[in-house]
Amino acid sequence: MAIRNIRVIGDEILTKKCKPVKEMTPRIRQLIDDMFDTMYEQNGAGLAAPQVGVLKRIVVMDVDDGNQYLLINPEIIEEEGSQTGSEGCLSVPGKHGIVTRPAKVKVKALDRDMKEFVLEGEELLARCICHEVAHLQGQLYVDLVEGELMDNDEEEGEEEQA
Ligand code: ZN
Repeated sequence: MAIRNIRVIGDEILTKKCKPVKEMTPRIRQLIDDMFDTMYEQNGAGLAAPQVGVLKRIVVMDVDDGNQYLLINPEIIEEEGSQTGSEGCLSVPGKHGIVTRPAKVKVKALDRDMKEFVLEGEELLARCICHEVAHLQGQLYVDLVEGELMDNDEEEGEEEQA
């Protein structure tokens, strides 16, 4: 188990485009394991590789629906409807903001064996997929926030962060 350092807003790496994974290697397997460990340690709902300083198209997610999601080279292939709600990011500590995202998305990606699959997500999972895929393009949710970026209220507990 290894916890990696989370890069925070202002770090140039978060603004760069990630490269696709071409083949599974022991190093990438280790990176994926570390990303899950780091996400759980930080109580995040998702984590993208650039957030731990690696410019590869890899995303891990756990939105408390009983599944662990790994997306390698994800591509959103369908979007439907819209949802407006609060969003936070492990790379923007202590803040949250209101963002509108699709209500439903379909994403095509590769699994740990580099086999293609399609995942459909709604509600929080759809929001999380969009948030993480944007990280791979070098985009942060702060640019999509409607109104002001707000400080998290510690008494109200943790905002969902990804
Ligand atoms: Zn994020």
